[in-house]
Amino acid sequence: VIVLNGVNDIEEVSLIIDQRLIPKIRQAHNIDGAELRVSCSIGVAICPHDATDIDELMRLADTAMYQAKADGKDNVQFFTAEMTARTQARIRLDADLRHALELKQFELHYQPRIDAQSGALLGVEALLRWQHPEMGMVSPVNFIPRAEEIGLIVPLGAWVIEEACRQVAQWRDQGWPMFGVSINLSARQLRSDDLLEHVRSTMARYAIGHGVLEMELTESLVMDDAAGNLRKMHALRDLGVSLSIDDFGTGYSSLAYLNRLPIDKLKIDRSFVQDMLADPIDRAITMEVISLGHTLGLKVVAEGVELEGQAALLREAHCDELQGYLFGRPMRAEELAQWSLQRQLHAA
Ligand code: C2E
Ligand code: CA
Ligand code: CA
Repeated sequence: VIVLNGVNDIEEVSLIIDQRLIPKIRQAHNIDGAELRVSCSIGVAICPHDATDIDELMRLADTAMYQAKADGKDNVQFFTAEMTARTQARIRLDADLRHALELKQFELHYQPRIDAQSGALLGVEALLRWQHPEMGMVSPVNFIPRAEEIGLIVPLGAWVIEEACRQVAQWRDQGWPMFGVSINLSARQLRSDDLLEHVRSTMARYAIGHGVLEMELTESLVMDDAAGNLRKMHALRDLGVSLSIDDFGTGYSSLAYLNRLPIDKLKIDRSFVQDMLADPIDRAITMEVISLGHTLGLKVVAEGVELEGQAALLREAHCDELQGYLFGRPMRAEELAQWSLQRQLHAA
């Protein structure tokens, strides 16, 4: 905590932070021969503008600091009234999120994955949805990071695995041709000690054979072996789960390392597919990822395919699987039967 006395205006505070404080903090430290640097997130509250008593002032500066962290860290935020509103909204969302699982507010939607050449349904990706009683359908981009933060992702992820297995077993028992279900796995989940046993026992309970379940991991997750991720990935593979790298191209992959990883598939990030018709660079990257994947003996999936033109180019480049609104949006399990019927009618 730093108290600045006798400042005249906010600009002066900014100046002191930028010119005196931050350069001092950022100075390199030589520790055991390594040059280490510290970054910082700073929150500022002003007396008497924001508050007059010390506890309140500290609380507001703290709120501003958390905003600085939320904005990607290593920056400065001055307290504003909206921050309190935002903090309150977040606290409420967290509280609701903690109860959502027992209140059965989550559901899985399934998006078809299509064989690029034959157009056949190869499988579905399970995507989590939160039906909030007042806010309606909340997007996973808004609640998954919170669920990670408050330690809810492990039980929630376990529910996703359970529900996806239950659903695929139901489809099988209804006489559908067997297809794959892919599940998104978060970092915390892969790190959890219970994951392997949970996957094993759930697969056994629903009699799910090898090659049905797929798990999608992010690039940063598979590139980080510090947490023993590699061992877990091998163990998942031994259970008959195939592994894909999601959002490929947005992180930092070591290509040499990629070759040694126990993975089956690359999913080219949606952003490349989205711009591939208009932007020659994105088109080139997409094409290169497809041939890189094939060279490494991997299947390649393009996601976010919305236009026939994109699908045609991807087919031409021998992309293996396509996924996107062009074929089907994520939908409830019951809707998938209807979707499949309509496709068959369309093809006939
Ligand atoms: P993702 O794994 O990259 O999932 C693909 C996202 O793209 C989904 O968003 C999907 O609805 C959307 N999408 C699919 N096709 C198209 C298309 O043609 N155009 C456009 N514009 N978008 C398309 P969604 O369902 O909102 O999920 C967002 C992210 O939330 C997912 O990204 C995934 O990272 C995460 N997520 C979803 N379910 C789970 C889950 O069960 N566990 C974990 N850990 N993360 C999940
Ligand atoms: Ca995914
Ligand atoms: Ca993705």
